[in-house]
Amino acid sequence: MPKRFTPDEYAAGVLSGNRVLLSRAITLVESTLPSDQTLAHQVMEQVLPHAGKSVRVGITGVPGVGKSTFIEAFGNYLLEQHGKKLAVLAIDPTSQRTGGSILGDKTRMETLSANPNAYIRPSPAGNTLGGVARSTRESILLCEAAGFDVIFVETVGVGQSETAVHEMVDFFLLLMLAGAGDELQGIKKGIMEMADAIAITKADGPNLNAATSAQAEYQGALHLFPLGASQWSPRVTVCSAYEKSGLGPIWDSVSEYVALTQGNGYFQQRRQEQNLHWLKHSIRQQLEERFYQHPLIQAQWQTIAGQVTQGQKSPFAASAELFQLIS
Ligand code: GDP
Repeated sequence: MPKRFTPDEYAAGVLSGNRVLLSRAITLVESTLPSDQTLAHQVMEQVLPHAGKSVRVGITGVPGVGKSTFIEAFGNYLLEQHGKKLAVLAIDPTSQRTGGSILGDKTRMETLSANPNAYIRPSPAGNTLGGVARSTRESILLCEAAGFDVIFVETVGVGQSETAVHEMVDFFLLLMLAGAGDELQGIKKGIMEMADAIAITKADGPNLNAATSAQAEYQGALHLFPLGASQWSPRVTVCSAYEKSGLGPIWDSVSEYVALTQGNGYFQQRRQEQNLHWLKHSIRQQLEERFYQHPLIQAQWQTIAGQVTQGQKSPFAASAELFQLIS
């Protein structure tokens, strides 16, 4: 087991921007060991007053859309043109790859990971979505306390993980490919509704025309959604990570969104709602764990679950009966 420090040592290390201690602190929040979790809570309590001062951007898109190439180009653009300090975190509970992560392979984000103003942290391997979401939430706060002022949370747009990411970021960027035929095919309406911006990737060479027409089509589709509480109208742009084009307009969207929502109060309100969301989420998880681990439930579970599967008892009567046991 790696060495553990005191809560003060972790907190001081993170606040001074020490990357080794930041990584260790993230390892701590990712740990499922009860003793580590207690320690993690103590560290979080100390860093929390110093967190929150970043723009949190969720980035999603199907595999192959060009997420990692885009993050490398966009990240370098932010470091070079805007003097930002960028942390990239990933939510990827499904990955079975060695290294356990969508960001795991060495070839991804090479120049970005070599830059002292960037910090890239792959998703923990073999964890549940709930577990990854919790540790990513806390990792965002740790990175902010360490001085990173832009945080990317990357996820693969195929499962439920984008909903979790949406609940932890300020701005949600959906990357899409210009496809042949029906441009909206295969994209869940729910994901488009979450997007504050859509960027059509690989808008270069022979793809450029298709990307431009996809842009018009998606912009039309987004206009059908009513304006949300943020008062922000989602934008569609095109970009090429290869040619490093279209990156400025995407950052303009993020900056203008932040200015608008900080001005109308939505930014702060949304973060408060997100805090409440994760509080409730965590309570639900703990209640469920305690319920199933309760000896009286464990003793009766097989019997009652059997009666329900056989149709001898209704699921509602059965759950009421189980709750009776422990109340
Ligand atoms: P991810 O699976 O979404 O992370 O996608 P990758 O970043 O690994 O990219 C998938 C493929 O698209 C790779 O073969 C890239 O070389 C290619 N690709 C990425 N960005 C661009 C781009 O801007 N233009 C073109 N033409 N191809 C790109």
